Amino acid sequence: MNNEKKYQLDTLCVQAGYSPKTGESRIPQVCQSTTFYYGSTKAMADCFDLKSDGYFYSRLANPTLAALEGKMAALEGGVCGIACSSGMSAALLTALTLCGTGDNIVVSSCIYGGTFNLFGTTLPKLGIECRFFHPDAPAEEIEKLIDDKTRFVFGETVANPSIVILDFGKLAAVCKKHGVLFIVDNTLATAVLCRPLDLGANIVVYSTSKYADGHAAALGGMIIDGGNFTYKGNPRYPHFNEPDESYHGLVYADLPVAFGTKCRAQMIRDLGAIMAPQNAFLTFLGCDTLALRMERHCSNAAKVAAFLANHPKIDWVKHASLPDNPYHALAEKYLPKGQGGMMSFGIKGSVEKCATFMEALQLITQETHVADVRSCVLHPASTTHRQLSAEDMEKAGVPQNLVRLSVGIENPNDIIADLAQALEKV
Ligand SMILES: *Cc1c(COP(=O)(O)O)cnc(C)c1O
Repeated sequence: MNNEKKYQLDTLCVQAGYSPKTGESRIPQVCQSTTFYYGSTKAMADCFDLKSDGYFYSRLANPTLAALEGKMAALEGGVCGIACSSGMSAALLTALTLCGTGDNIVVSSCIYGGTFNLFGTTLPKLGIECRFFHPDAPAEEIEKLIDDKTRFVFGETVANPSIVILDFGKLAAVCKKHGVLFIVDNTLATAVLCRPLDLGANIVVYSTSKYADGHAAALGGMIIDGGNFTYKGNPRYPHFNEPDESYHGLVYADLPVAFGTKCRAQMIRDLGAIMAPQNAFLTFLGCDTLALRMERHCSNAAKVAAFLANHPKIDWVKHASLPDNPYHALAEKYLPKGQGGMMSFGIKGSVEKCATFMEALQLITQETHVADVRSCVLHPASTTHRQLSAEDMEKAGVPQNLVRLSVGIENPNDIIADLAQALEKV
């Protein structure tokens, strides 16, 4: 599609990323081929040298992935997308494109558990130090964590599972002042509800396994380069300013897409954690309906949150649509179209009551997944967090009576009726 800038986001969901030529398939084909044909050595050599665009091996690039990458980059307003094998690999490849031993990263403590472990436990084993801050901390406190070895600041637009909303204004100002990259995981908001690049972020990462695919059909991740950061001459990023000897002396800071090129040319090449074509195809189809689905997830979730907040058996509800939620003001500023389908709530009384409630649900199912079309619940105390003591769970911000609910796109009255009948049994 041409002139992507002139269209609204819901149009881009449907149309961006792929435009067939005469006689070609209307939607992207699953290009199930590891390699590609070239008639001459020179044509292939030019591809290897990044002098011409072209596919030569599906560990580096593939047309089905390119369609999804183009669509998601257009949605976020970025200059390049890189489809990865999972959300976790998107975070890892991003970090390793920017950091080496002796470097550090400054990270919100309210993030997805897997990313928390990757940044807090696994990267330190490679000599990359992780400094956590609470997203509510004042700017001065966060700034104190930044030194000349800091390579990026990281947070989630809507944090999974704490549902904390990121204060973009505060973090963007800190990052700008120190000339450091601001990276945001936009998985649970998606570009439909919030575009981090418009709010001062420089790179966006995704687990596409959630709303982007939206049907719980395909695992995947995406990295989007905003193309809005100057690496040239910035002493924080020597690897962008020195020639890459593994790439014929290429200087990434001189390129129009510096981060995206370095990430693909080095990290995708060396680590190989690229998305499978079939998963890219399924996720591409998912994105076609992303705007419509997000609208319904949001309106359903707001209704469900209001129902739960007024229920006598419910202790508390966390969803930024509720006026008394501590992140309501931030949500109004940064996610005015809606706050997504994820929420958590506490059931009054003993932990056993949570199990009784979960088992009484008929429509809503128990799953470890979130953010697909079907409503689902999880009780961390008896599943994902069962190895922790009650005390450690409180510290992790996950009280014993917490139930996580991912509101789907079913009829809202059916979702509420199911919750109501299960609460009657408690
Ligand atoms: C699920 C999730 C991830 C990890 O993604 P996978 O695709 O499961 O590897 C990262 N960030 C957030 C916010 C998530 O919800």
